[in-house]
Amino acid sequence: MKKIAVIGCTGSIGVQTLDVVRTHRDEFTISALSCGHDADALIKYAKEFDCRTLGIYDATRRIEVAAATGGNVFCGDDALTEIARSDADIVVVAVVGMIGLSAVLEALKCKKTVALANKESLVAGGAIVNEYLKKYGGEIRPVDSEHSAVWQCLRGETEFKRIILTASGGPFFGYNGDLSRVTVAQAVAHPNWKMGRKISVDSATMMNKGLEIIEARWLFDTENIDYVIHPESVVHSMVEFADGSIKAQAGSPDMRLPILYAMADAHVEREYKPLSIPMSLRFLPPDEQRFPAPRLAKDAIKAGGNSAVMLNAANEAAVRLFLEGKIKFTEIVDTVARTMDREQVERLSDASSVFDTHNRIYNKIYFN
Ligand code: MG
Repeated sequence: MKKIAVIGCTGSIGVQTLDVVRTHRDEFTISALSCGHDADALIKYAKEFDCRTLGIYDATRRIEVAAATGGNVFCGDDALTEIARSDADIVVVAVVGMIGLSAVLEALKCKKTVALANKESLVAGGAIVNEYLKKYGGEIRPVDSEHSAVWQCLRGETEFKRIILTASGGPFFGYNGDLSRVTVAQAVAHPNWKMGRKISVDSATMMNKGLEIIEARWLFDTENIDYVIHPESVVHSMVEFADGSIKAQAGSPDMRLPILYAMADAHVEREYKPLSIPMSLRFLPPDEQRFPAPRLAKDAIKAGGNSAVMLNAANEAAVRLFLEGKIKFTEIVDTVARTMDREQVERLSDASSVFDTHNRIYNKIYFN
């Protein structure tokens, strides 16, 4: 029986992680749960999974959660770090945002296995995360469908030539209209995947693929990373080897699959609806004129230092403003490009320099 801690248990990946545990009670048990603000959901899950180690970032809800569950409830930053170092075999880091990095570093310090769904920790803190892996041990298993696919393709292999990530293209692939006029509702309506709002917008701008290229760089230690548009989201990514052979991993677009794979470290029995084969699949070239975000991400990898932190921070700030109706859809990536252009690249020395750069850029983005 593996003990699972879920950080960010009320978000999209968190809820789907709990669903995986619900259907695999012989293999997994929930040992710790934390969330940001949603005390009602936290209380409900704590009771359902009989879990007494709890965290809620919002300190005003702590007493309420403790009274309803009889649990030991941490709040503020402890809601992340105490859960990360709690008595769990696997820590699922499913929070959105830079706070995920603190949770990952804390879990690695305690030599835990981290099932990683948080993008920011690798995009912004990849170099630091890899240092912690070397120094303390522990393990990172990707939950993101693309990286899970690459991980699966690389099993049993020692060397490879190139990673080819697949991208659905988001809701605007092949869209002929004026991108500067698309609404928030259009941007968050993803054709294949059920996701949170921030990542849905990232998917629509293709910045999500950019962030995933940076993640892949740190997870698999290579800069040979390309991507193709694959509108069906059935092939989750591919790896090319020295003899020209390519391995691909395919499956339904259901995040519960990579979540289960990361927790079990294997393909375990589960109820599923088989993919209907035969089917026709398309693999198309990206349109970087209209969607330049992945190119910006590749530039950030080349520039090194804190450039990926800046890219991520500028994007996060711009997406928030778009969701608030304050800037146009096309201004999101324009803002990121302008920030990258005008800011000096600096070396990253430690985790605090990652947070410092993030906060500085998040609060100072360039609109024109
Ligand atoms: Mg993905």
